Amino acid sequence: MIYVGLGQDSHRFEPEDSIKPLILGGTHIPGYPGLQGNSDADVILHAVTNAISGVTAMNILGAVSDRMCLEEGLTDSSNYLREAMNHLGRRRPVHLSLSLECARPKLAPHMTAIRTNLSRLLDLDPGHIGMTATTGEGLTSFGRGEGIFCTAVLTVSED
Ligand SMILES: [Zn+2]
Repeated sequence: MIYVGLGQDSHRFEPEDSIKPLILGGTHIPGYPGLQGNSDADVILHAVTNAISGVTAMNILGAVSDRMCLEEGLTDSSNYLREAMNHLGRRRPVHLSLSLECARPKLAPHMTAIRTNLSRLLDLDPGHIGMTATTGEGLTSFGRGEGIFCTAVLTVSED
């Protein structure tokens, strides 16, 4: 049995002088302001978490993550992803496809680190994690550098 989950997320950048770090896919990207949100606002991990919820029909981002963030102080978004994974049961991720739209940061130098981290979080071979990025020719606020948009498609199998 094969399941496919679709997730997406977007966040706006903090002001340029913000000291909040930019975290993408659990990786610190130096040289840019962070993203707005109560948590680390990791737009990649949020899109992947939503894709897992697309399979499990158990939504984590929202009420559950707000409780974890605001009441338990868990701002690292990998906690939300792990919580979503807990509902997969005997199903296992077998492939992840990520598509980002942004003008900044330049992602190419960080893709290996991001894919390695996602591989660890999802227990998935890095070779089964595809990741593309586009500026969309600057047609949207993401392409103009105001924030980052991420779409995730997760394929999960059950033996
Ligand atoms: Zn988010």
